[in-house]
This record gives sequence, structure tokens and C-alpha cells, in this order.
Amino acid sequence: MIAGSISKITGPVVVAAGMTGAKMYDVVRVGAQGLMGEVIRLEADRATIQVYEDTSGLMVGDHVESTDAPLTVELGPGLLTSIYDGVQRPLPVIAEQSGDFIERGTVASALDRDKLWPFVAVATAGTDVIGGDAIGTVKEGQTIVHKIMVAPRKKGRLSWVAPSGEYNIDTVVAKFEDGTEMTMTQRWPVREGRPYTKKLDPTTPFTTGMRILDTFFPIALGGNAIIPGGFGTGKTVTQQSLAKWADVDIIVYIGCGERGNEMTEVLTEFPQLDDPRTGAPLMDRTVLVANTSNMPVAAREASIYVGATLAEYYRDMGYDVAMMADSTSRWGEALREVSGRLEEMPGEEGYPAYLATRLASFYERSGRVETLGADDRIGSVTMVGAVSPAGGDMSEPMTQNSLRVTGAFWALDTSLAHRRHFPAISWTKSYTLFLGQVRGWYETNVASDWVSYRDRAMFILQKETELQEIVQLVGPDALPESEKIILEVARMLREDFLQQFAFDDVDAYCPPLKAYWILKVILAFSDAAVAALNRGVSLRQVLELPIRDSIAGFKTTPHEEAIKSMQAFTSTLAEDIAGIEVL
Ligand code: ADP
Repeated sequence: MIAGSISKITGPVVVAAGMTGAKMYDVVRVGAQGLMGEVIRLEADRATIQVYEDTSGLMVGDHVESTDAPLTVELGPGLLTSIYDGVQRPLPVIAEQSGDFIERGTVASALDRDKLWPFVAVATAGTDVIGGDAIGTVKEGQTIVHKIMVAPRKKGRLSWVAPSGEYNIDTVVAKFEDGTEMTMTQRWPVREGRPYTKKLDPTTPFTTGMRILDTFFPIALGGNAIIPGGFGTGKTVTQQSLAKWADVDIIVYIGCGERGNEMTEVLTEFPQLDDPRTGAPLMDRTVLVANTSNMPVAAREASIYVGATLAEYYRDMGYDVAMMADSTSRWGEALREVSGRLEEMPGEEGYPAYLATRLASFYERSGRVETLGADDRIGSVTMVGAVSPAGGDMSEPMTQNSLRVTGAFWALDTSLAHRRHFPAISWTKSYTLFLGQVRGWYETNVASDWVSYRDRAMFILQKETELQEIVQLVGPDALPESEKIILEVARMLREDFLQQFAFDDVDAYCPPLKAYWILKVILAFSDAAVAALNRGVSLRQVLELPIRDSIAGFKTTPHEEAIKSMQAFTSTLAEDIAGIEVL
């Protein structure tokens, strides 16, 4: 056993002497209470340890013991609906054990060991299996079939498989000819990505139901995006909308709240959300990882790796998983604080020089893959990280480094939020690198001319920004009618297309086909209006027709009905405008 004693304590970081033989990232137990920590630096016999719990009361000379294993998570049935802290301790269980304030050194099993699961055997004795192969399944919640998979690096011939029946997670459900046994759980070190057979091109969009994202800045399943935004710009509402509506099977939500009450919101609100597709609680297909405010910063650092590992595990079963982290800035601050305690050479604004590589290796765990196992399973992990730059200043290191390693930037804009334009996602600052990859899907599944409508709409909105600068200088009357109509169409694009109220029964989710038709109607109006102006009709005459009110109503009309009406409306609108007489 590797054991030593504390020689120095600085906040969440302690140094222990006599630790010869310890390895980097080994989990250790510190002091009489056995506080959990991780080795983050080794020099001779001295190990520097980041401790995941409050270190007050520890003293020089206290005992430190290595568990001789890295930080791992336990994977198996029962993860869904769970609420964990940053090191996978189930919060409701430890709250029961120790009351409102979590006692330090508390140990609790991540999964319920007594619960019986309906195991259905799918493999038979005598078959050769490899890592990733399912030997059985259990139904987890209403919709998710949980595959009991052979651990990634294991292979061999099965000598016995348990008959279908009700078992708890520790029951042996399969035996190999080499004598090893398998239960329903496996462990995995959180800092190591789970292996897969092959990474695939991300060509299917991650459909969110938010028009601005799906049409202007789409990402792919297996892609990644960041949502930077100042306080009150809608990061939480957006992340929750994504959790509810994104077209994925599983949600892993990591809350890194700075203040306690932010976390309380997540912990109380999330379990109340309904899954709009099934009507069941959204938690049935969700795992929450919550960093409570009374845990020190180091635990936040671990939590996003815990989340990534849980997401990869469901990916390996062949599911599409969305992982949301709110907010990754808190994780960056944890890195900064620990790095400061280690007296490392600081990089920009005190963040460690390795911030960029850490971010890259984290976002690299997203992807659409062919999973391990003999059957052709495909699964994906899509990552969306919120970033909260202080004062909304997007030039700060966390935002800048995150945007370098992710494929899309969904910038929340404080001035849009002030004007109550929601979602407050800026169409001038945001971008996506996935358009080329998902375009084919839209052309096949939505409309062959989808991209041309998207580009035209974005062009009009850009033109509006330029024209508004002129208007501010010389006033609106100085513009010719051919430019006034651009402003009018841009306003319709903003109000009738981009604005989307997250709490409206119909408009909370907009299928991509409906979004396409709204664009098409607005642009048909634009074409007809421009043609009429060219004939000598005045802009006032065009605007007098009640067409714009009808267009404004489509987003809140039930989808099927709205699409049908818009198809008919596009042609009558052109006739109505063509019928205006020149005065
Ligand atoms: P943040 O997490 O960035 O501090 P929130 O997500 O809590 O901000 O959003 C602040 C407020 O903005 C919400 O309470 C809500 O009133 C409004 N809001 C944000 N997004 C939307 C939306 N899509 N639809 C309607 N209201 C929204």
C-alpha cells in the first residue's frame, strides 16, 4: 500500500511526502476523514494532490493513502434519472446520509445495488464475444433499452449466460471460459475517452427545433458548439430548450454553478421538466451532474470528465447523446485556481498555459462513431458548452480558446436580450463550420433549395445592419423605397422567423420543414413587393395589405396546418400584390 503524510496545505491542494510508487491521477484518501483527492503532480516521493472536498481542519502530518487507481465512474443500469456530484456521488443519497450539508469523506454507491432490473439475455453460451457486444439488455425507464456490454478491452468465449429474469446490478450475468465473470456494471477512468471502432463524418444535423440554430447555424450530431453570453442573456433557457427538444436519445447535463442558487434552480427545475415527446419526466432519459457550491473548485474540474464518460457509455450502446455543460467558465476557473496553487507559470489572465489543450482534449470526446462490438452500431456525443465571459467580453481566454476548438459559436447578445428579442442569439456574431457537412441532409430531407433561402435571408439581415447605420446618420426618409422594403423584410425575418418564445406551446419547437416554409413565405413576399415597386406601386400600398399579419401568425400555428397554409399562401400573396394598381 502506498501511504504518506501531508507536508503542505494550500486551499484545495495538498502535498504529501512518502508517496513513492504513486501514479499521476491516482485517487487518494486524505486525513482521518478520508477526503477524496487526485494526484496531479509527482516529484521524488512527494505527490501534489487536488482534494475534492473542503480541506479545512487538515494538518501537516495527517495520513494520506493512495487507492492505486485513477478516478473512475461506475457505469450500468440506473444512471438515468440520477443526480450526481462532480465525482459521481448520488446527491439525494448523500443528502439523506448527512443532511443538508454534505459531510466530508462521505462515500456512497453511484448506483442502486438492491434494485431489480428485468434482464433479457441476448447472447448464448459458446459464442465468442468482443468488447462492446451486448450479452443482455434491461429496460431503463420508458424508452431506453440499456445494453449490458462486454467491457471495451475484454474478449473471449462465453461459457454461461444468465437466463432472462430480474436481477440486481451485482448479479453475475455471464461467465467466460477463462473463468472471468461479468455483472451488469463496469468501471471506466474518467480522463480517458472510451474507445470506439471508427469516427464517422458528422453529416446528420443535431436538430434543435430552434429556427435560428437549425437554419442559420446548424451543427451535426457528434459536433460541438459553445454558447457564450453574459448574465441574463438566456444561457439556461437555451440549454434547457435544447435538453427538451433536441433530437437525441439521452441528455447529460453538467451544472457548474458559481453561486449556490444557480445550482438550486437546475436541481429543482430540471426534475420538473416534461419530455415533450413522451409526456414522461425528462429525467427518465437524463443524467444530471451538479457541482454544489460547498464543494471546492477541484471537484468542478473532474465533473466534466465524469459527464463525458457517462455520455460516451450511452453512445457505445448506439444512442445519440447530447452533453450540456453550464457553464464551462466555472471549470476554467477551477483550472486557474489549482494552477495558481501549484505556482505554475500563468498564461493569459492567470489561466494556465495548457488551458487550450485541456479544452481541445475535452471537446474531442464529442463525435459520431461506429461503436465497439460485432454489430454495426452507430452512436454520437454532441457537446454544447455554455461560456459566461465576465461583462460579456468575448475576447477573454475561455471564450477565445473554446471557439478555437469547437465547430460552432452561438453568441448570445446582451442588447438583443434587453430588447426582449429571444432567443438572443446574434445572427451577426454567430457562426458554424458544419454547414457543408449537414447541407446534404437538409437538401434531401427538407428542400433541394434550402441553402439558397438560408443564404438570402442571412444576406438581407446583413444588409439591414448596414442600412441601419445610414438611417442613424440621415434618418429613414432619406432611403429609397427599394431599400426601405429591405428593412421591412428584415424586420419580418427578425420578428416572424428568428424570434421564438421558449414557453409557447407550439413555437417552443419548430421542425426544420416549417422553418423553411416561413422563410419561403417571407422571401416570396419580398420578391412580389420588389416587383410591385418596380411597376411604380408605392411601398405604402404594399404594406396596407394584411399579408404581414398572416405571416406573423404562422409560427404559432400547429406545424402541419401551418405548412399547408403557407404552401397555399405563397401563391395567393404573389397574386394579391401583383393585383395592386399603380396610383
Ligand atoms: P442566463 O442563464 O444567461 O443568466 P436565463 O437563461 O436565465 O439567462 O434567461 C434570462 C431570462 O430571459 C429568462 O428568465 C426569460 O425570461 C428570458 N428568456 C431567455 N431565453 C428565452 C426564450 N427563448 N424565450 C423566452 N424568454 C427567454
